[in-house]
Amino acid sequence: MAHIDMRQFICRSDNFGLLIHDHVSGATAAIDAPDANAIESELRKFGRQLTHIFVTHHHADHVEGILQLKELFGCKVIGPKAEAGKIPGLDIAMGGGEKFTWAKRQVEVWDCPGHTAGHIAFHIPDELSVFAGDTLFSVGCGRVIEGTMEQMWQSVNQFKKLPAHTYLYCGHEYTMANCRFALTLDPDNWRLQARMNEVEKLRAEDKMTCPVTMGDEFKTNPYLRLDDLAIRNTLGMAEATDLQVFTEIRTRKNNFK
Ligand SMILES: [Zn+2]
Repeated sequence: MAHIDMRQFICRSDNFGLLIHDHVSGATAAIDAPDANAIESELRKFGRQLTHIFVTHHHADHVEGILQLKELFGCKVIGPKAEAGKIPGLDIAMGGGEKFTWAKRQVEVWDCPGHTAGHIAFHIPDELSVFAGDTLFSVGCGRVIEGTMEQMWQSVNQFKKLPAHTYLYCGHEYTMANCRFALTLDPDNWRLQARMNEVEKLRAEDKMTCPVTMGDEFKTNPYLRLDDLAIRNTLGMAEATDLQVFTEIRTRKNNFK
């Protein structure tokens, strides 16, 4: 399938705005709506009409632009069933395991509880793209706010089944801080060192560090590498369960300065 056009930009302070556009049908979807004005100006730049918003979770920095964009474009809002009451302007509520068709492509919805109780992710296999919201970040994962560590661990685990050439799109530009933290657990991982160098260079030039392939994440993201012996030895947790290692890493990150 001819690839869709992805336009990503940073808005607010560190949110990714993302527009996906299909040349054939003219459909354009925003992944979340962090900032209506920033999204509108990006659309105007390319003369596009917003037809859909795919919402990952109810946090203000992901939904605040919805009503203004709906007013401007009359777009359809698709979001998490389990947070339906918290998503302004929601038209179609979807839950894990459900699928829908957008611009002739199948979109799979995954339940990803943990960061919020009803967080969902969107996967478009035909475009080799997954939209993870605040569940999985490059070299990191979201803070566990409404769910349990076990739920978040399972939510993150789902991404391990993706083909390595799938592109990960996420909700925030947090990669630099995530790399700094990951290096405390996995200091001898040369791929992580290389990612850190790349990220420093990109950020110094004000460029974005995402999307990134899942293959790169499998080699650098500590939450996808719970069985790695070097990481386990650093933590003194060689014999622990994956969930125990996940919980220790996520807890350390909460306290990392
Ligand atoms: Zn959030």
